[in-house]
Amino acid sequence: MSTEVLQRLSTITLSTKHLRRLPHLSDFLPFSLPSPSPTVTASHVPSLFREPYILSGYRPVQQDWRCYLLSLFQKHNESLNVWTHLLAGPVLLLRWWANVDTLGYTLDTASLPLLLFLVSSLTYLYLSVAAHLLQSHSERAHYFFFFLDYVGVAVYQYGCSLGHYFYASEPAWRECVGVMFLPGAAFFGWLSCTGCCYAKFRYRRPYPPQRKVCQLIPTGLAYVLDISPIAHRLLTVSWSQEPSLPFHALQIACFLLSAVFFSCPIPERFFPGHCDFAGQGHQIFHMLLSLCTLSQLEALFQDYAQRRDTVVELFGEWQLWWACVSFPVLLVCCILTALIPMKHMSKALQSKDE
Ligand SMILES: [Zn+2]
Repeated sequence: MSTEVLQRLSTITLSTKHLRRLPHLSDFLPFSLPSPSPTVTASHVPSLFREPYILSGYRPVQQDWRCYLLSLFQKHNESLNVWTHLLAGPVLLLRWWANVDTLGYTLDTASLPLLLFLVSSLTYLYLSVAAHLLQSHSERAHYFFFFLDYVGVAVYQYGCSLGHYFYASEPAWRECVGVMFLPGAAFFGWLSCTGCCYAKFRYRRPYPPQRKVCQLIPTGLAYVLDISPIAHRLLTVSWSQEPSLPFHALQIACFLLSAVFFSCPIPERFFPGHCDFAGQGHQIFHMLLSLCTLSQLEALFQDYAQRRDTVVELFGEWQLWWACVSFPVLLVCCILTALIPMKHMSKALQSKDE
């Protein structure tokens, strides 16, 4: 028995040796790729990059940009923040194509809000990936990519509002809020981007509670308005008649739970140094937000399939086109707003360097 075990062990050792001798991908490339430096502890990076209760796994600053791109395959304390949103994109697209097959989709005026919801979701997911993957390069890069991340959040909020308004609202709700909803959603989307950028620009680590207030109040107000057609529908319509309502309920539950993990550094607060790679509250926040987006896609597709024939008749082509054109306008406004604190921050960092 023991001889057999020893023989198997030696086979595994030999296989490992052979694997090491196999050519690497870099051997076939016509150029050489830099290798990312090993990760370091919190005391070896500037305080801007240190996260509460995360003691190690930091990527050193000022490496070649390619090292941060390649750190996608390195084990560090941002790995799962990157991968959670990176993988959510293909899953979202797969669900989109599955729904196109089963429920049908035609690119026309009635379907534009649904397409913009998908675009807004991919925008926030991939701006978040860029922020978590590349922010460690320098303080300037950290601010630049996180300001862009906030632009993504604002655009996503507006993308959700379009879907909720055109496919999921009830006549009684439209009589109350009606035409003010989309301008209000655009304004609060922009305000949440502004609040998050201001908080990032204004406060330094260790962050005071006011920072979260600046982030959460405008984002919370935007959410209350954006979700109001869904909340009204969930409270007034029988769930058994509408296949989308359980998915809408799930998207609200996921979002509210994600807000808890975004606001509080749990569970790492109770296990400092033990969640440096996996188990951080921010990773749980990313997963719940991705699940929220997937539930929204399922719900909005069901609503779209049920109401697509009446959308143009109900809202009019002009309102649909106006709403869709306002989407890139909001994107440009948010980018311009984010550039203001970025410009001030660049100046401050430049004078600090000199
Ligand atoms: Zn994040």
